[in-house]
Amino acid sequence: MCLYRLLFAGLLFVGSSAQAETVEEPKLAAEQPDSISCGSTNRGALSDAAMLPTRGHGFVMAEPWRSRGTRFGTLELVKLIAQSSSDVAFQYKDSQLSVADMSHEHGGPLAMHRSHQNGRDVDLIYYAMDAEGRPFYPDSHMAYYSREGQATYAKSPRFVKDIPERYFDLKRNWALVRAMMTSENANVEHIFVSPRVKRWLLTYAREVKESASILKMATHILHAPRDVKGHNDHMHVRIGCSEEDVDAGRCRQASAPKPRRSKRWYRRVRCPNPVGPELALPRS
Ligand SMILES: [Zn+2]
Repeated sequence: MCLYRLLFAGLLFVGSSAQAETVEEPKLAAEQPDSISCGSTNRGALSDAAMLPTRGHGFVMAEPWRSRGTRFGTLELVKLIAQSSSDVAFQYKDSQLSVADMSHEHGGPLAMHRSHQNGRDVDLIYYAMDAEGRPFYPDSHMAYYSREGQATYAKSPRFVKDIPERYFDLKRNWALVRAMMTSENANVEHIFVSPRVKRWLLTYAREVKESASILKMATHILHAPRDVKGHNDHMHVRIGCSEEDVDAGRCRQASAPKPRRSKRWYRRVRCPNPVGPELALPRS
């Protein structure tokens, strides 16, 4: 299926009515204390983390991510994921967002990631559909999309040569980006995608006549660094520090210096929680 067919399929579904579903809403603990994001995304910690349920209306955290102990984030991030995926599921029936790594309960270094350290990052696997345009239920692969918008293999979380064939679901991926950008739950700072995914999403947004302000916002928030390989299989969403965390002197919007030059950096991360074993300074 070529990209134009995908675009066309997407257009057919624009404006389809919202469908109410009787799915249990995720419980985001009413008495959940407000989380504190400390330090930077690449040298940070997390206090009073919020935990994303393993599934909710419109999202699921599949294996192997579910067992990794990485479904923690700031309260703002957890609300953002739950609300935005629910919005997409109301807009398009049977949508299931596949959530991958967030942060550890107390933050700190996370295997295979430079950031994800203070509860402000999440990897979201692109919505997919089968050859007939039906939504593809999340499995254990981060499907890697070719230029034609098709995926037959995965590089992550491990290389798998043959995965069930699937296609990039433009309408749902755009709906998710739109929902997150315009959300009041969090201030979405960056959405890292590959250059080709950015091009697909913006082309689609223009096709469906999004407003100039939405297009401008998307052009700004969708980041497609040319020197970084990847993001053809997932989007990495980063939210900004909350005002309270900045005011309390806890959260830093800027990245920390490279580990080589910041051996004592963790001592400078001011976080109310005692530093857990997972926060031990990585050997470098
Ligand atoms: Zn990531």
